[in-house]
Amino acid sequence: MKHTDIYDALNKEEFLGQELVVCGWVRTSRDSSQVSFLELSDGSSFTRLQIVIDKNALNVEPECLKLGASVCVSGKLVKAFKGDGVELNASAVALLGKCPAEYPIQKKRTTLEFLRTIPHLRLRTNTFAAVFRVRSVAAQAIHRFFAEKRFYYMNTPLITGSDCEGAGEMFRVTTQPWKTDFKSEEEYYKNDFFGVKAGLSVSGQLEGEVAATALGKIYTFGPSFRAENSNTTRHLAEFWHVEPEIAFAELPEIMQIAEEMLKYLIRAVLDECPEEMKFFDSFVEKGIIDKLEHVANSEFAVCDYTEAIEILKKEKDRFEFPVEWGCDLQSEHERYLTEVVYKRPVFVINYPKEIKSFYMLQNPDGKTVAAVDLLVPGIGEIIGGSQREADYDKLIAAMRARKMDISSYKQYLDLRLFGSVPHGGFGLGFERFVMYVTGMENIRDVILFPRSVKNIM
Ligand code: ATP
Ligand code: MN
Repeated sequence: MKHTDIYDALNKEEFLGQELVVCGWVRTSRDSSQVSFLELSDGSSFTRLQIVIDKNALNVEPECLKLGASVCVSGKLVKAFKGDGVELNASAVALLGKCPAEYPIQKKRTTLEFLRTIPHLRLRTNTFAAVFRVRSVAAQAIHRFFAEKRFYYMNTPLITGSDCEGAGEMFRVTTQPWKTDFKSEEEYYKNDFFGVKAGLSVSGQLEGEVAATALGKIYTFGPSFRAENSNTTRHLAEFWHVEPEIAFAELPEIMQIAEEMLKYLIRAVLDECPEEMKFFDSFVEKGIIDKLEHVANSEFAVCDYTEAIEILKKEKDRFEFPVEWGCDLQSEHERYLTEVVYKRPVFVINYPKEIKSFYMLQNPDGKTVAAVDLLVPGIGEIIGGSQREADYDKLIAAMRARKMDISSYKQYLDLRLFGSVPHGGFGLGFERFVMYVTGMENIRDVILFPRSVKNIM
């Protein structure tokens, strides 16, 4: 259909005084004896276009005035009667699709919980439309950031045969139903599609390392899958994962890229989504614009895990979970560090080797690894990364200690055998980032169709 985006009608001066055709959904409708007013949204902008219908001059089918109806309007774009915007004086209004009164998106404020039950319609609300415009802008900014730094964009496999990292968190991929005549698990997998146990990847990192140790700097941006059994507001079974991997780099450079990336993404969202951000600031998280401006302009803090434990131990009565050197930081600990102690994003580095993955660089102290988590207020962990162990023998030793099947990691080990280099990277949970910049508190509200335990609607 030949028509003008409402965004352009509102923002481009060349359209003022012109005859236009616009399409959209009726978001509000007011009627007086002489005039009807419609506010129309086509998704292109946060602000809607006001349509003015002179009832003496134009007879409009009543269905066109109903909330949620889709219409196509011709008319002249003029300076608004009130305020300093523009409005469209309708000369014709055509109904595209009527919308019966059972339309679940009514004007009165509904709850996010209710809207979660209608994922196919919730994007027609201000809140969700704004979230997904921000999400799109952020996704494009990610590609721009890495392109400007000459990182190559890699697509790593989603189906994987290695079940290293996510042992227990891995979804299985199979085409074969269980039959009682299989004598063992092994026999069952042998008969399956790939002839071995296969699953959905929890991370593209291992393959990312393959690419980085040839192309230097790479990143992936795709889905990861985790059969997280925890029903939290920060975990999904399917989430989007940004994973840069950098050759000839040690932990400080990896942290620097993470900090630069986060600031770049925040800047992009603030600059490119001013209306959405104003909305989030008013209705979702008061002060979020100031918070993000502050983050974009301040240096992130750095704290050693050992130091973090000392800080947390002093306040141990505030926490549900105990704090001891060697324990994994719980969300409440992470949030205390970033929200109360540092009041800004903080990198926690050098975690005990027992609570981190086999591939992380072993520090000289023999107890810790060169891991880094970035914690941000309101969320806790948003990024997890590390320098990788580049020494063949040390890597094998770490795998043995974890009783891993070394033979299935030949390719990964080869990277340490042939021209091994210091390298590392990190993973950003894209939905956690979208939560952080919009102030949305539940991860299910920043992805189109959330997948989590017992939920695949
Ligand atoms: P958490 O402790 O929060 O479960 P993790 O330590 O399992 O995170 P990593 O394996 O380091 O996370 O993954 C890198 C990033 O991916 C995390 O920092 C987080 O932003 C994101 N992430 C991890 N698991 C999920 C999930 N189930 N849903 C959404 N994002 C996730
Ligand atoms: Mn996890």
